[in-house]
Amino acid sequence: MVSTTSFNTTKSQEIFSAAQNLMPGGVSSPVRAFKSVGGQPIVFDRVKGAYVWDVDGNQYIDYVGTWGPAICGHAHPEVNQALAAALEKGTSFGAPSYLENVLAEMVIQAVPSIEMVRFVNSGTEACMAVLRLMRAFTGRDKIIKFAGCYHGHADMFLVQAGSGVATLGLPDSPGVPKAATSDTLTAPYNDLEAVKALFEENKGEIAGVILEPIVGNSGFIVPDAGFLEGLRELTQDNDALLVFDEVMTGFRIAYGGVQEKFGVTPDLTTLGKIIGGGLPVGAYGGRRDIMEMVAPAGPVYQAGTLSGNPLAMTAGIKTLELLQRPGTYEQLETITRKLTEGLLQAAREAGHEVYGGSVSAMFGFFFQAGPVHNYDDAKRSDLTKFSRFHRGMLERGVYLAPSQFEAGFTSLAHTDADIEKTIAAAREVLAEL
Ligand SMILES: *Cc1c(COP(=O)(O)O)cnc(C)c1O
Repeated sequence: MVSTTSFNTTKSQEIFSAAQNLMPGGVSSPVRAFKSVGGQPIVFDRVKGAYVWDVDGNQYIDYVGTWGPAICGHAHPEVNQALAAALEKGTSFGAPSYLENVLAEMVIQAVPSIEMVRFVNSGTEACMAVLRLMRAFTGRDKIIKFAGCYHGHADMFLVQAGSGVATLGLPDSPGVPKAATSDTLTAPYNDLEAVKALFEENKGEIAGVILEPIVGNSGFIVPDAGFLEGLRELTQDNDALLVFDEVMTGFRIAYGGVQEKFGVTPDLTTLGKIIGGGLPVGAYGGRRDIMEMVAPAGPVYQAGTLSGNPLAMTAGIKTLELLQRPGTYEQLETITRKLTEGLLQAAREAGHEVYGGSVSAMFGFFFQAGPVHNYDDAKRSDLTKFSRFHRGMLERGVYLAPSQFEAGFTSLAHTDADIEKTIAAAREVLAEL
């Protein structure tokens, strides 16, 4: 922990200033630039367990977890050991490897909807591929997505796409041709009537519905009772596919994802983040009859030079093994609830309106009275207050996602002491807001 008086980020500032001349905005992915909270981002030097260290030597308790993958804690010794052994055998094969069978079997056993799986290199890639497959299988072009849900940066999904885009204030991105999004219909999250209306207005034309079954990309938003079940029914009634984008929630909300926890089985699922254990992996999978349309089994083309990469497979396998140990999800649930309830209570005691919650190892809160059922609700939050809260926490050694519209993540490495320190820091900051 650092005290505010000793909070020195000189080296971070130097490096980030230089970076701005080298890379657009100084980053390799926009949200890292802290645009939505203001102030300079800190530059990381190393990560371990529940902690990250910046280049000035400041230590932080981390609730971003490299945006989800670090559910066992950063640089877990067993993952690192497995990677070191795999490294000896080479970094890329571009040919079948047994490691792919192992991870594929683990994913198929874990995720209720997945009977066959294809590995790719990112969540974006998984969502792009699943969209092509939805369209090919149904012979229809239109899809329904929800405002505030993020499915990667592919053209077809950059319509009301949540966090990153929201944070930059770009409702859409220039460079996305109208044609690319003209078949993307949007509805407000948790609004079954809106989805029903879209199906009626576009009879026989909708390939399917894709959503984050728990939202993390407009802040943390849970589905209302009956919403997922309602989508399952509506899609079935209209011969359309239901796709859960579990890139964030897979292996985090439960070992089998939201679909296991809530008992609603989609036709197809996208995965990423945790299944790569900190290395670049994405995946899509689902019903065998649909997946068998993917090349070379079927005609739907999709490929990747580094897909199924042996290092990435190894990190994923070891991470899932660690998650299979007894008590894992109980531990995550308990620690996350303690954190979230502590933060909400501290905020209310300090006289702030807050609304939030947690499920398993994912949490969030908005600076507003709530309730928050969708992205429009989320946008009513006090963003200035969030920015000041974020900066205050950073100065006290707590690294939170730099946007009101991102969820928070805990890991097996977070201890009770970490949670208590975090809440104590929050009390100090909240008193000053
Ligand atoms: C992160 C995320 C993606 C995109 O994954 P990348 O690996 O960043 O391309 C897609 N969908 C959801 C729900 C995500 O959280």
